[in-house]
Amino acid sequence: MRQLIAGNWKMHGLGADSAALAEGIKAGAARAGGLACDLLVCPPFTQIAAVARILAGSPVVVGGQDCHAQGQGAHTGDISAAMLADAGATWVILGHSERRQNHGEIDELVREKVEAATAAGLTPIVCVGETEEQRVGGQETEVVGWQISGSLPKGFKGVVAYEPVWAIGTGRTPTEADVATMHAFIREELVRQFGEEDGQAIRILYGGSVKPSNAGALLAVPNVGGALVGGASLKAEDFLGIARGAIARRP
Ligand code: PEP
Repeated sequence: MRQLIAGNWKMHGLGADSAALAEGIKAGAARAGGLACDLLVCPPFTQIAAVARILAGSPVVVGGQDCHAQGQGAHTGDISAAMLADAGATWVILGHSERRQNHGEIDELVREKVEAATAAGLTPIVCVGETEEQRVGGQETEVVGWQISGSLPKGFKGVVAYEPVWAIGTGRTPTEADVATMHAFIREELVRQFGEEDGQAIRILYGGSVKPSNAGALLAVPNVGGALVGGASLKAEDFLGIARGAIARRP
């Protein structure tokens, strides 16, 4: 299974910045002449169409950072999954901890968004992860187990990203042993929920302070199917440096 390196640009970049970043990633990916991984970038809503046009014909695909659970309606300020697809996105990040914290998104809503995204033809990346307090309290597997069973609908066809909240944007990462433990736990939960074949087929990304210098070690951990990258995805060289750490895994 190819690893997926996904860039979450969050609320960064005006038009010229996003275009330059997309051009840089496109050129770097072409120079690499075929990376061992899949590449995805998730710009702010307003940049999706322009970035998708720049990346058309390249191996880099485009996603959104959220979508509404409804197809359309009186939802001022929201964006539907079909609108993302119409703008050129094929993926969407859902249930990111910043959405869960800043917008009060709960598992049930995330699950409805996953269903809406899937119905619109988008591949969802569903984020799960414990807070620092929960990790210190030894509750990380319990919390992540609940998030997985609450956020993933029946027949889920997408990607799960394990992102410990305390590792996001802090420069801190779990040890490789802790990443291995959590990813093995998530794999078990996915197999329990979706059966052996489908549960094994779901990629599980690691996210939280991934950079070129630690990507190789994190991506080599068993059950790590790629990385969700925030800060380091805002520089083409760093993003591509992380992609160079990807490894080809057997299915
Ligand atoms: C993220 O927000 O998904 C993330 C992983 O951020 P960072 O890489 O900056 O820790």
